[in-house]
Amino acid sequence: MSEFRQDPLSGLWSVIAPGRARRPHEIDETETAVVAHEGKPEFDPDCPFCPGNEHMLPPMVEEREGDEAPGWFTRVVPNKYPILSGAGGELPADCLTSGYGRHEVIIETPRHDADLPDLDPAGMQAIVDTWRARFTAVSAMPGIEAVALFRNRGKGAGASVAHSHSQLVGMPFTPPLLAEGLERALAHYQEHRRCLTCEYLERELTAGDRVVEMGGTFAMLVPLAARGPLEQWIVPIRHSPDFAQGSEDERNVLGGVIQRAIRRLRKVVGDAAYNMVVEPGSSDPAHRPAAHWKIRLVPDLLTPGGFELLSGLAVVPSSPESDAESLRGVNPAA
Ligand SMILES: [Zn+2]
Ligand SMILES: [Zn+2]
Repeated sequence: MSEFRQDPLSGLWSVIAPGRARRPHEIDETETAVVAHEGKPEFDPDCPFCPGNEHMLPPMVEEREGDEAPGWFTRVVPNKYPILSGAGGELPADCLTSGYGRHEVIIETPRHDADLPDLDPAGMQAIVDTWRARFTAVSAMPGIEAVALFRNRGKGAGASVAHSHSQLVGMPFTPPLLAEGLERALAHYQEHRRCLTCEYLERELTAGDRVVEMGGTFAMLVPLAARGPLEQWIVPIRHSPDFAQGSEDERNVLGGVIQRAIRRLRKVVGDAAYNMVVEPGSSDPAHRPAAHWKIRLVPDLLTPGGFELLSGLAVVPSSPESDAESLRGVNPAA
């Protein structure tokens, strides 16, 4: 039996159709979905993100030092093939057509073969700190209104370089999907004087059947109206309007939570390609009571078809409840 479900936070609709296909862990065995880790060396002489290949990179924006060789945890460089670009300063009048903005790459580790769950706590912490520092810096650049922070892992997820990295795009306007989410949150607050995400979380934690993990700071859950099999959300349990500001506690715990979420995914479907996106909330003081940031981890197990293109609906061939059960059932320790 299929079900139409609407995500209360984004307003987007999904068709949950668990009878439609095999279970997700049986769907993923395609070339595009799986990251080829086997035989990947720790260093690749042709990889611009590997240590010693700095000459292949644009001039460095930032480097976070580490104790061990090669002496750094993370590096930030401008994207060589930016989605948006342009010098800071005045926002050109035709900014929407000129593609004005800022596109940075965060090289997450000196190791060519590692993904986030393979890093030690200090390396992972350096990444979280780099994300927040760059998010704050790019947000403050003239003419930038919104910042998108995301990771594409594996070819099927759109990654063109195998070496672990994330990207940050500063835009001169808030893109429709984020704007719509914020508008819904503000409208809900106006009417009910409560944060929509806090309410949603409360309902989910009470119901429990889509909860994967519950710590003191973050909840990990499969969304009610997932956009794909085994989607996971990482949401601060206490109201938290702004990713870049977040509490000290959030800052210290986030890395470990992300590592566990990816490990759970790995243990259920293997090394699937995935996207990780930060829905950053808002730094506008007027939005504080309504905005609530979160991270979405979405494995790329399916290619959208004509129905999805036509309707904007995501067809999900597994149920969020049984996905949560699978993800809960594995040990997320390294
Ligand atoms: Zn590399
Ligand atoms: Zn909230």
